[in-house]
Amino acid sequence: MNLPTQSDWQAKAAALRFPHQAFIDGQSVDALSGATFDALSPIDGAVLAKVARCEAADVERAVQVARRVFASGAWSETRPTHRKKVLVKFAQLIDQHREELALLESLDMGKPVMDALNVDVAASVRCMSWTGEAIDKVYGEVAATGNDELGLITREPLGVIGAIVPWNFPMLMATWKIAPALATGNSVILKPSEKSPLTALRLAELAIEAGIPAGVLNVLPGYGRECGEPMALHMDVDGLVFTGSTAVGRHLLTCAGRSNMKRAYMECGGKSPNLVFADAPDLRRAADAAASGIFFNQGEVCTAASRLLVERSIKDEFVAMVVEAGRNYQPRHPLDPKAATGAMVDEEQTRRVLTYIDKGQAEGARVALGGQRVHPVAGGCYIEPTIFDGVAHEHTISREEIFGPVLSIIAFDDEAQALRYANDSDFGLAAGVWTRDITRAHRVARKLRAGSVWVNYWDGGDMTAPFGGYKQSGNGRDKSLHAFEKYTEVKATWINLEA
Ligand code: NAD
Repeated sequence: MNLPTQSDWQAKAAALRFPHQAFIDGQSVDALSGATFDALSPIDGAVLAKVARCEAADVERAVQVARRVFASGAWSETRPTHRKKVLVKFAQLIDQHREELALLESLDMGKPVMDALNVDVAASVRCMSWTGEAIDKVYGEVAATGNDELGLITREPLGVIGAIVPWNFPMLMATWKIAPALATGNSVILKPSEKSPLTALRLAELAIEAGIPAGVLNVLPGYGRECGEPMALHMDVDGLVFTGSTAVGRHLLTCAGRSNMKRAYMECGGKSPNLVFADAPDLRRAADAAASGIFFNQGEVCTAASRLLVERSIKDEFVAMVVEAGRNYQPRHPLDPKAATGAMVDEEQTRRVLTYIDKGQAEGARVALGGQRVHPVAGGCYIEPTIFDGVAHEHTISREEIFGPVLSIIAFDDEAQALRYANDSDFGLAAGVWTRDITRAHRVARKLRAGSVWVNYWDGGDMTAPFGGYKQSGNGRDKSLHAFEKYTEVKATWINLEA
């Protein structure tokens, strides 16, 4: 089969329909105020659509719908086998619309369309089908009682879930939330990022086609403070699940506390260390992984391998290899099937990253690759893959999440120092260790304070692996059976069996 060329993708893009209304109670509707915001493409600055700008009144409307449908039992009281069937159908529909969804994602937030197709859409399909397939295979518990009692421990849906997601993997992050929320019988109100609302709106249409009743999955596009915050503060939202920055996650926890103490689970930022020891099994492979770990998706990845800690004896040799690998990530037009990276999400994020690059130089680190804004497409937002050598652990670029294609390389002298640097961070999302020594691999993996640890690997794991952070990288876990914990209450029912 011939793969689509850039002009094929451009032809498909010209024929694309851009969903732009909110989706409430099975209908596409304008915001009650009639207001809209522009969905801008960072590829070239074009306006793709004028999207409904939802706010508190729309949240109120969606919560009432979601509550009514939840109470009706139309979804919440269906059998797990039924929900499985519908979610597997939902996955199939996402797969059938994969090119359309990949294009929407690429145009809306700038990632290469082939990554959107092969990573975002493919992983969303897997997540939806895996979660659907799992839901009729999870059991409750029976407590260890005497014969005169029966103790049942069961899980029940929370009710109405508010889900707030970011722009870096818009559809996948939404799917990580809505799949387990729907599988466990909840109603959902999803707020995509104002920077990438399009695929979420299309997902809501496909959900109806799959057989999810109207009102069970609602999507409200809008800004954080105007639309996300009223959800977080709403007294009739039972659960709040979030993926995004640590600053906003921290704020949302206070919103839960200030309102109805809704269950609140935050997946937040990272500054993940990648530890390369001199005895790594294959330095070339480690260098390729170090480069893809930071440059994939323009570095806009919560688990980006943004701190590369290298044993001093191999540092210079290894830096040269990473620089060579990094050259492969020069940004191109995102619809070019050969693009390894595309556009940054918007002008604001582009400027933020460039400011960090300036700061890295001002604090004394050396640019070993890149460092400039480039213009493969006029009017777009593109930054070269950038590598800083000679970074000190204390430098700003080694401590703060940049969320762009900027790698900090830091030398270490021994295992204890590597671990101290790795763990001396507010974040704890992911970490990697490269060594041939099996005892060191286990010892270091055990001591790394991170929710995911990869040995001789970066970004390992599949749907069976829980995903989430230690420390200020968040609480709770997405993916795997652990994800169901966020969307359910645990009930103990105690029955007296005496005659
Ligand atoms: P962000 O925190 O700015 O925004 C995330 C979402 O929150 C958006 O929908 C936004 O509109 C909304 N929001 C913003 N302010 C709000 C407020 N006051 N009240 C309610 N909602 C509000 O994050 P971002 O820039 O979209 O995404 C990048 C961040 O996401 C990075 O920090 C990255 O590490 C993190 N992230 C984490 C994971 C993970 O699984 N841990 C995955 C992907 C991204």
